[in-house]
Amino acid sequence: MTAELLNGKEIAKDYRAGLAAGVEELKEKGITPNLTVVIAGNDGASLSYVRSKNRAAEKIGMASDIVQLDENISEQTLLDKIRALNNDDAVSGILVQVPLPEQISEEKVLETIAPHKDVDGFSPVNIGRMYTGQRTFIPCTPLGIMELLKHTGAVEGKDAAVIGRSQIVGQPVAKLLTDQNATVTLMHSRTRELTAKLADFDVIVSAAGAPGLIKAEHIKDGAIVIDVGNTMVDDKLQGDVDFDAAKEKAGWITPVPGGVGPMTITMVLNNTLLAAKWHNGME
Ligand code: NAP
Repeated sequence: MTAELLNGKEIAKDYRAGLAAGVEELKEKGITPNLTVVIAGNDGASLSYVRSKNRAAEKIGMASDIVQLDENISEQTLLDKIRALNNDDAVSGILVQVPLPEQISEEKVLETIAPHKDVDGFSPVNIGRMYTGQRTFIPCTPLGIMELLKHTGAVEGKDAAVIGRSQIVGQPVAKLLTDQNATVTLMHSRTRELTAKLADFDVIVSAAGAPGLIKAEHIKDGAIVIDVGNTMVDDKLQGDVDFDAAKEKAGWITPVPGGVGPMTITMVLNNTLLAAKWHNGME
């Protein structure tokens, strides 16, 4: 069979149109959602990622600021800057671009961002809220993956393999799939005979960052394959899945690039809109 393409670019475009309408509604009430992105240093790739978030926010009518700090900034000064943004009523959501310079602890940064502005959903408070089922910001890549999966029908009752157990992708995806009543197996680099096991699964979410890991023969006929992997090989972005062959076996499949990537930034915008709504007492 030839898989249906889960085209993240198209799905993200439709989703952002809905967000733009939500931003417009807030603006009519005199509220302008604002996404503020903090970056320390001049790393080219990080700056371009920050600018693309900024542009995406402005494109749907949000305000967006970039706070660019010197790469030699002290940890104390950076934390003070975050505290000032926490107290600034004009700022709805705060993102701090990683990697951070080595003198700055990422853990301290995440503990300092006010949970109600932590639109990445990475602060310990928000991670705890997610695992205890309380209202919070779901981390953006996992949330984007769940949105892509909605286009394939319900995952309830399906057997799902999640490859990768990081705090930012694999583990939250496993939790969200479980919440949707899938039966989840979380795999990682110590999983024995990983690829041979994959043939049992209706859904595969691969977030290993290991190009060529999953080949067509590992996939069950008609399975849903979400490739989160994003590895630069010879100046080309590669996923974990051998896309060209796998699309002849899978039922649904994401391309790389153009699959999960566009959904991640979209969910940053989604969470910023939610932050503005919640801060103003709306659901
Ligand atoms: P990470 O923190 O490095 O975690 C990778 C996970 O994959 C680890 O749990 C590791 O196992 C497992 N793993 C690595 N190689 C493996 C292999 N050959 N077989 C089985 N498991 C393997 O990475 P991450 O931050 O979660 O990101 C994962 C990938 O997703 C990367 O390519 C990243 O660029 C991409 N990503 C994409 C987006 C997007 O928006 N498109 C967003 C975030 C991340 P151990 O725990 O045993 O080491």
